[in-house]
Amino acid sequence: MAIIPAGPIGVTVLGATGSIGVSTLDVIARHPQRYRVVALTANNQVERLFEQCRAFSPEYVVLAEADAAQQMQQRLADAGLQTTVLSGVEGLETVAALEQVQQVMAAIVGAAGLAPSLAAARAGKRILLANKEALVMSGQIFMDAVRENDAELLPIDSEHNAIFQSMPAGYACGQSLKGRGVRKILLTASGGPFRTLDKAQLESVTPAQACAHPNWDMGRKISVDSATMMNKGLEVIEACWLFNTTPAQIEVVIHPQSVVHSMVAYADGSVLAQMGNPDMRTPIAHAMAWPQRMDSGVETLDLFAVGQLNFERPDTQRFPCLRLAYEACAEGGAAPAILNAANEVAVEYFLDEKIRFTQIAQIIAETLQRLPQQPGDTLDSVLAADHVARETARDLAAELMT
Ligand code: NAD
Ligand code: MG
Repeated sequence: MAIIPAGPIGVTVLGATGSIGVSTLDVIARHPQRYRVVALTANNQVERLFEQCRAFSPEYVVLAEADAAQQMQQRLADAGLQTTVLSGVEGLETVAALEQVQQVMAAIVGAAGLAPSLAAARAGKRILLANKEALVMSGQIFMDAVRENDAELLPIDSEHNAIFQSMPAGYACGQSLKGRGVRKILLTASGGPFRTLDKAQLESVTPAQACAHPNWDMGRKISVDSATMMNKGLEVIEACWLFNTTPAQIEVVIHPQSVVHSMVAYADGSVLAQMGNPDMRTPIAHAMAWPQRMDSGVETLDLFAVGQLNFERPDTQRFPCLRLAYEACAEGGAAPAILNAANEVAVEYFLDEKIRFTQIAQIIAETLQRLPQQPGDTLDSVLAADHVARETARDLAAELMT
């Protein structure tokens, strides 16, 4: 576990320019005595990252792309700022493991977040984990790294943060639930923007419609995942690793208002829920301050304005991605990594308007079928499965386009 420093807590924000990154900086800005930004990273958004440098004066910035890093170097020099610029995966891994950093917000989207999240675990940091894909791809490796290096893992994904908040006192992520009186985990899902559409209507939905989530303002990839319900599927796998459980113990509950963020059902019949406005600053502030509480900028839930809470069963006929994720989770090995990789490719093709919405699930199902029983017990085997799954999914997408 990281040693608590005398001064402000040093924070690295991986994926600072994204939706979670921006919310994290909003929370940090409310507590300048408590937190200090040591490093910020982005893929290639030079201007946005530069503005963040001006506001937070980090010691380091990292751009994944080398050209962008060069532009940033120039931009900082012109402005007379002292920030050191790094690039590539090595740069991301470096700032995830710096000695002066105690907390790492892992908010890069997709498989690209795996290596730096793992570096933070190996360096024994408090990891604020938004990047669910890291756990989906290589849950065992990631959880082992957390345990072996005495890192501290706190979930940022709102549902998992809610589950964590509803767990018995003293529970730490990764520990067994046996003997704690937990019967099951109720994972809530908004149902996404297409919850009420029928199969035929789903054929013709557009990327813009998929990205217009009714309750949450998120990045484009996770927005499409919410629309297909793959996001919930990935979250089932994420929950299995975080809470050391089987998929059978996790029940998905559609809850269109996104007010109850998830629940834990106990042996005595109690169901504990965490509620709040749908704003990621709540789980971010919770995980950063834990076990204390601090202001996040989020208003208290107005139950009179909410009025009603509804719950429905998910429909895996219309949203087969959820079923595919449960199956991949139960299969184990590299199946979740293959599911994740095929999904990333298919979502990209859909966002580029090259395939239809309903073909996302088709590509994932077919990729999983073509690549049965790949090993996933080492990082190399996971990355190999990720690679071959991407190629297979691209081939399938190309076939669908012709
Ligand atoms: P986003 O697309 O808004 O931001 C992604 C960030 O990652 C950006 O800073 C981008 O520059 C960076 N990035 C993208 N590709 C990269 C690469 N190849 N190398 C290095 N950096 C790269 O995404 P988001 O919505 O903030 O989501 C981030 C993560 O958090 C995802 O894993 C998502 O599933 C998870 N999450 C998000 C929300 C939400 O409300 N947005 C909720 C729960 C979980
Ligand atoms: Mg979520």
